[in-house]
Amino acid sequence: MKITAIHSHVLQTDMPEELGYSQQYYAKRTAHLVEVQTDEGITGWGECFGPGNVALANKGIVERVIAPMVLGSDPLDRDVLWHRVYNLLRDHGQKGMPLQALSGVDIALWDIAGKVAGLPLHKLIGGAHRTQVQAYGYGMMLKRESVADHVARFADEAAAIRDMGFVATKMKVGLGARDDVKLCEAVRRGVGPDFDFMVDANHCYTTPDAFYVGRALEELGAYWFEEPVAPEDLDGYRELRAGLKVNISGGEAEFNRWGWRAILENRGLDIAQPEVCALGGISEYLRVLALCHAHHTPVINHVWGSAIAVAVNLQLLAAMPPLPGGLFPREPWLEFDTTLNIFRDEMLLEPLNIQQQVADNGGFVTVPTGAGIGVEPDRDFIARYEIE
Ligand SMILES: [Mg+2]
Repeated sequence: MKITAIHSHVLQTDMPEELGYSQQYYAKRTAHLVEVQTDEGITGWGECFGPGNVALANKGIVERVIAPMVLGSDPLDRDVLWHRVYNLLRDHGQKGMPLQALSGVDIALWDIAGKVAGLPLHKLIGGAHRTQVQAYGYGMMLKRESVADHVARFADEAAAIRDMGFVATKMKVGLGARDDVKLCEAVRRGVGPDFDFMVDANHCYTTPDAFYVGRALEELGAYWFEEPVAPEDLDGYRELRAGLKVNISGGEAEFNRWGWRAILENRGLDIAQPEVCALGGISEYLRVLALCHAHHTPVINHVWGSAIAVAVNLQLLAAMPPLPGGLFPREPWLEFDTTLNIFRDEMLLEPLNIQQQVADNGGFVTVPTGAGIGVEPDRDFIARYEIE
């Protein structure tokens, strides 16, 4: 079996309204799919993390840098190909966009392996520890509006996400430490005293500001405080984890086993959030998962992007061993963006209908059982939104 072609599809659409997080506002939704074709007619699909112009640059890496390294090779040799590409790109970037690009190709190779075996990805990895996964819903994005308007909206949105059936909710912050505490108080008021909420700073704070917000989160009983400081600030992570009672989470901006080894050895995370479409694909995710568990650090995957990324994550969450195990273990959750995303909700021939599943099944989503990642994108849909 041979790889005959690798195509990268960047899809984009205008969003109904501009949304923001602590780093920027954005008005376009992007998805970057990778398609690997073979001489036996089996096609694999993968996805690369990275919006907007980053996706376009990653497309160049996929098609002009990685594809020539792997065309003609056996797609089942995915670990061999991973190391061939990584070793040849090492001098040009051990993190960031080369790894995001490699992730999409690697995921497509795993999809092919599953289709060849006639098995879903979770069976290929070692079986399903769970056949359904509870989802948490995030929303409460920033907008160009006053602090008072944010406060009122966040309380309402938090209650609405709880009422949709999600198991917990997650909010953004980023207006500045003092105002951010007001937003967190509003979300606690919105969801009531007994519902989990989490706070995602997207690395906007200095360590002292993160302590200020983190102490408020202790009082409010937030479940985790995500990316409080810059991902490079390993000492800041360690100090926050040692000094705050709220769980410190992060890792979506970290790459490969060597980057993850550094965070974990520095004891900076209570909860690890690896992003399979960025850190190096499924091959590298499995190594990072083992490394996290070797440090007794629970994993709740970071999930972003189209239905391909969501399906891959459902497969990985099914195959994740319990840590440490027990009659009533804390199970991993599926991260779900509650803002409108047609690339997630309308791109598949058979949609996952996650929000409907959440509403009907007490927050649970069923893991796909088809071969490979278990979903197939609609080529007409891709053609309609493809920009390059
Ligand atoms: Mg995040």
